[in-house]
Amino acid sequence: MKDTNKHQGLRNQLVKQLQDKGITDKNVLDSISKIPRHLFLESSFEDFAYQDKAFPIGAGQTISQPYTVAFQSQLLEVKKEAKILEIGTGSGYQTAVLCKMGAKVYSVERQNELFKTTSLLLPKLGIRPKFLSFGDGYKGLPQYAPFDGIIVTAGAPFIPQALMAQLKIGGRLVIPVGENEQIMTLLIRKNETQFEKHEYGDFRFVPLLEDKN
Ligand code: SAH
Repeated sequence: MKDTNKHQGLRNQLVKQLQDKGITDKNVLDSISKIPRHLFLESSFEDFAYQDKAFPIGAGQTISQPYTVAFQSQLLEVKKEAKILEIGTGSGYQTAVLCKMGAKVYSVERQNELFKTTSLLLPKLGIRPKFLSFGDGYKGLPQYAPFDGIIVTAGAPFIPQALMAQLKIGGRLVIPVGENEQIMTLLIRKNETQFEKHEYGDFRFVPLLEDKN
């Protein structure tokens, strides 16, 4: 579990690449420059950890590409102490980036193997989300709602009603929508019944699956 000057140098290069690709939120870039992504991967991938790529993390899942993590985090417009729900904890990397940005993070994962590994890893790295849950993210976390922001890190065939219902007025839901390819979608809640919708480019995610495993 070592984080060296070399790793820091690679992270600084990654942050530059993300800026070149259009990421401007300073809070997002600062956080990515601090989170040791190589410690979220199996050691065989350590040398590649700061490439802007997705990698396998077990249970047939992947850690999202840094650009995707940055893009989604930027769309969330995270303020200090904001209450954020993440669907798809996976490796915990996105969780850690949000925690470092000052958010109070609640995260749900449906794969028990990943839930267990990540629950052990995050405290070792000094990252303390408010709540990690093993369950089905389609349902959200009604007991902790409403949230300032909700981020879904798996491809959703449709936007789950339960997640829309758990958003504060003014809150932001960032969700990739589609079957094979996904359109990054931002919903901003205007009032009890109305949501403003914005769509961004195409992304590719592992699918958001029903029920836990
Ligand atoms: N944020 C993660 C991305 C992991 S990939 C990271 O940076 O590593 C997407 C994750 O979503 C996978 O771990 C997958 O198991 C999980 N997932 C898929 N469907 C889900 C659901 N319905 N509820 C919760 N998690 C889900």
